[in-house]
Parts: sequence; C-alpha cells; structure tokens
Amino acid sequence: MLSGATCPGLFYSTPAEDGILSRIRIPGGILNSLQCRAIADIADHHGGGYVDVTNRANIQVREIHTKINAQVLKHLQDIGLGSTNTAVDHIRNIMTSPTAGIDPQELIDTRPFVQAWDNYIAAHPVLSGLSAKFSVCFDGGGIVSVRDRLNDITFAAVLVDGSVYFRLYLSVGTKGALSDVGILLPPEQCLQVLAALANVYLAHIDTTSKRKQRLRELLNTLGCENYLQEVQQSLRFPLFCIQECQNQITPAKYQHIGIHPQRQQGLFYIGVVLPLGRLESAQMWGLADLAEKYGNGTFRLTPWQNLLLTDIPQQWVVDVQSKLALLGLDSSVTNIKSALVACSGNKGCAASATDTKRHALALAEYLETRLTLDRPVNIHFSGCEKSCAQHTKSDITLLGVNVEVDNGTVEGYHVYVGDGDNNQKFGRELYQYVTFEELPALFEQMLKTYEIQRRNSDESFGEFANRYAIAQLKQLFPSQNSNSQIQCPTTSEMPMKSTVIPLPLSGQKRT
Ligand code: SF4
Repeated sequence: MLSGATCPGLFYSTPAEDGILSRIRIPGGILNSLQCRAIADIADHHGGGYVDVTNRANIQVREIHTKINAQVLKHLQDIGLGSTNTAVDHIRNIMTSPTAGIDPQELIDTRPFVQAWDNYIAAHPVLSGLSAKFSVCFDGGGIVSVRDRLNDITFAAVLVDGSVYFRLYLSVGTKGALSDVGILLPPEQCLQVLAALANVYLAHIDTTSKRKQRLRELLNTLGCENYLQEVQQSLRFPLFCIQECQNQITPAKYQHIGIHPQRQQGLFYIGVVLPLGRLESAQMWGLADLAEKYGNGTFRLTPWQNLLLTDIPQQWVVDVQSKLALLGLDSSVTNIKSALVACSGNKGCAASATDTKRHALALAEYLETRLTLDRPVNIHFSGCEKSCAQHTKSDITLLGVNVEVDNGTVEGYHVYVGDGDNNQKFGRELYQYVTFEELPALFEQMLKTYEIQRRNSDESFGEFANRYAIAQLKQLFPSQNSNSQIQCPTTSEMPMKSTVIPLPLSGQKRT
C-alpha cells in the first residue's frame, strides 16, 4: 500500500492521528454482500474493527496498523472494490441517489451512468491527472435527491415536453455554489460531454502539480462561458442551450430513513441510521447476511452517511427491522442521529478546535431523553471553517471554537441556523461562543420551540428559522445557563457506550 498522497484511497492511504486511513471508493454507494464481508475482514484484521461511511458514500477503514499486502488488495480488485487502474483510485467517488432504480418518482435510473463513467475513468489513464477533488454527480429526479450536494459537475434529470434530459450544473465561485449553466443534454450525450468537460479542464491545469487547481478555480479565472465554448469545440454535436435557468436547488430532507415502497411493486427499502456514519464490523457481517437472505444481496451507502437495505418483500419488512435492532441498528425517522453530521474533530484532525464527534453524539444522546422528533433535523458539527463533513447548509450548524471562561478556555461553538446569503457559508449566525456545556439546554429549547411554532409538520427547522429575524429567534430561544449533565462517549467507545466528561461551569460568553 502506498502512502502520502493528498487524498486517501484504497491504494493511496494516508496517515491520521489514530493510524493509517484507507478510503475505498464505492461508485454510487452500492455494495454487495461479498464486498461488505471483505471490508469487514480488513477492518477486523488491519484496522480498528469498524468503518466510517463518508459524505460521498465511500468507506473509510481507520486505525490501520498492520500492512495490507498485495494479495489482499488484488482480492479486493477482483471483487470489484478499487479501480482496476490504481492511478485513478484517488479521484472522488461518483455520487448518485441511493435510491437510483428503485425510487418511485425518479425520471431515469442513473446507475448505468455511474458505471459507465467509472469504467471510462479506469480505461483512460490520462484522467489520472484530474484533481483528487474532481467530483461528478448524477441525479435521477427522484424523491431522494442528491442534486444539492456539492460536486464539480452535476447532471440533474428533468422532464421537458415529455422527454427526460439532464440539466448541467457546474460548481462556481469561491465557495463553489452550484450554477445551472443553461445546457440540456439528452441522456445518450451525457458521457461524451462529461469526458469533454474533464479533458478541457485537464488541458488548462498543471497535472504535475502537487496541489492541482480545482475545476471551480479554473472556472473563476477562465470564465464559465469560455470553458463551455472549448467543450463545445471538442464535441461533434451542438450542445442544446436554453435561456431559462433553474438555479433554485432545494436541500435534501432526509426522506430515505425508515420504510419506503420501491417502484417495484411489493418491494420495500429500509433506510438505516448509522450514528455519524459508523458501522462496527460485526454489524457489517450481519448486514451482509440480511441483504442476502431478505434482499437482493446488495445495500446502498448514502451521502448522508446512512445506508439502505433494498428489495425486501413486504412480508419480510418487520422481520428485517427486528433483525436490524438485534444488530444495534435503528431505522426510525425520529432518531435524532439520522441527520447528525460531524467532521473528524480534534481526535483525527489537527485543524479542529473541538472534539466534534464526541460532542455530537453526546448532544444527541441527551436530546433523545428529552424529546422525540417527528422529522429529521440536520445538525452539523464542524471543527473549523473548512466544513469537510457537509458542504451544504444544514438546519443547524455548529462551528468549533475555543471559548474563554474564568479559569482558561473550553471547547465551544458558534451556532448558525437555516439559510443565509451567499456570504454566510453556514447560514445565519444565531449565537457566538456557546460552550459545549451550554448546548444541551439550548438545543432542547430550540427544538421544542420549533415543534410547537412551526407552520406544519413538513416545515424543516431551517425553514422555520428562516421565517424569523435573528433578534426574534433569540427571543424564542433566550440565553440561559445550563446545569444539565451531558454524557459524552470516549473516542474508543463511540458510538455504542457513554461516559461522563467533566466540564467547567460558568464563564459563558454568548452574545
Ligand atoms: S472541517 Fe476542519 S477540523 Fe473538521 S476535519 Fe475538516 S479540516 Fe479538520
């Protein structure tokens, strides 16, 4: 196994504080039971006995301390894990809706596009020059949408005069906002256009540079129109341009958790909550058995760090749910961890001001004892501005900071809610310098107020917050000291067990 590359992959692992980190690309997030067992085996024999599902539906094996030999890597390639061309293994996972092909409302099944692009990358070594962050997404227009996820290039299915097309979105601007560039593509042109988009990008960047320019950085200097003109010149057919653009992309609403009918009559999928994306290897073995016994032998990882068990006949759904419970897995939409997101935090990343993962789990476990949500609330903990775990806005974002208190500093957060303008990356700032100790009572109050005051059960927390000025929200959630005991698991115990960590009282600096 090589090491030291800028982004971790199966053949390009990277050192982390807790050992080597190996990331396995799972194109489209679809994993079969054989692959699942092979990864669980690696986690058991080489890593920490668990894996993390990432926000691109990859799998990360962490705490690797013993070398994975060439024979094992070859076996992984043979069963379809890792690219046959290891030079392209570093490129970002190809994203699509986890319900592709089973979504009752989708316009087109995007799985063949994911497979075709993955094959194309493997067959064209020149694409190894792409930035590791070069990212592509196919959205089929179904209920479980991924078109709001931040990708360099997004193809989003739309219906025009009874025919299905893909609208092309590019990530532009310093913050990488998705922009509808006014091009409609018949599905059969998609791959050629994608290849042209990649090739024109490659022609403009220094592919030998250690830090390759990203596509959006190139667009910021070259200009989107010039870039697309060059793409057009390299194609043998005209791009179909439209005047009207649809820049409004609504955020995903975590509708995949729980039990849902598939487009195939009599079959259901179950969206399973993985607290902060973590799966123990024993759970992976159990899931592989369940997928084989009750489904079609596969399951799907989601960009929201959960998973779906699919193709379950109606008569087995309740059985599968109880077997999931025996594995310690939950599929309830009311589970507050279903939409909880945190980056590595200061246990895995030197840039982090706070222990985000421990804090996130501790907060969720506290809230579970105080209230029951009837729809997911997306809470995002980020250790710094980089926002690795979630690039889109969430209902509530917590940005880690050090908070000065009477006798030193403690870990705390800036709190943001809902949407903001383009300069407000995390939404609108509600409070500054809330200590971790103060979070439980504040969140309990915020979520209870939301449940009482929202317009209807379909209104998300973010939409609710957007209806009020910040001053009004502060009146709804008045500042208060917290004396609540918050349970916080140690890193090695996450996410199953809990211990209490002592936290200093007083010294609040909330504004
Ligand atoms: S968001 Fe910041 S602190 Fe968190 S993992 Fe990324 S770089 Fe590290």
